Amino acid sequence: MEKPIYPSPYMRITQGFMMGTHADSYAIDDAGSDTGIDFIVAPFTGIIKKIYTADANEVWLESSEPVIYPDGTVDYMTMLFAHDNDISNLFVGKVIARGERFYEEGVAGNASGNHVHMECGKGKFTGSGWHKNNAGYWSINNGKNPTECLWVDDTITILDSYGYTFKRIEPEVVVPDTPLEDNTSIDTFPAVDDQVDSDNTNDKDNNVDSSEIVKPKLIFTCKSDDIYAIELKAGQKLYLE
Ligand SMILES: [Zn+2]
Repeated sequence: MEKPIYPSPYMRITQGFMMGTHADSYAIDDAGSDTGIDFIVAPFTGIIKKIYTADANEVWLESSEPVIYPDGTVDYMTMLFAHDNDISNLFVGKVIARGERFYEEGVAGNASGNHVHMECGKGKFTGSGWHKNNAGYWSINNGKNPTECLWVDDTITILDSYGYTFKRIEPEVVVPDTPLEDNTSIDTFPAVDDQVDSDNTNDKDNNVDSSEIVKPKLIFTCKSDDIYAIELKAGQKLYLE
């Protein structure tokens, strides 16, 4: 299951939620790395449910599957994006993969300076996707605090979080099944003839002809102290150096 990633790789939040034009909504504005036009990536794998070109080129993206919220709960998520100048490449029903560049900052809808306006909604796309809130602004249905929806990881450069704290996706620790996969390597075993001490070869008590020695083909190079188990059959020999 996916953890929705903060969609602007250069987080620079220029207006927070519940203030100004975001009164009575959990919208945030992000202006990215600089004053130019930065791209926005899909926070989760989803499908475009609605496009509204009569205002600020708003696009609603609904997750294809339930996602993991930072508090651990699991539900669908819908996000609303606004201000991209050109969304001619997008259409309702288009599927976007998590992390895929699909939207851009812009000034569509009389925005002051290139930025993207983003809102998170908990659950699937509902109704017309938005409603006029008590402050008179159109706001996504089931709006939810973005810090309770989105995650950050090492791909996100945080330039200005506006004082908000987003939960970080920790890299998954891979635990090897056996020490062999992690701590050892397999080398070709050198020819036994090169290894045999000449003094021992001439020892009369040693009645084993060197030609009878089965040459092992592989040997571990043990790179860390550990306990290894090996099954030997009667008569088999184990060589350690
Ligand atoms: Zn905004």
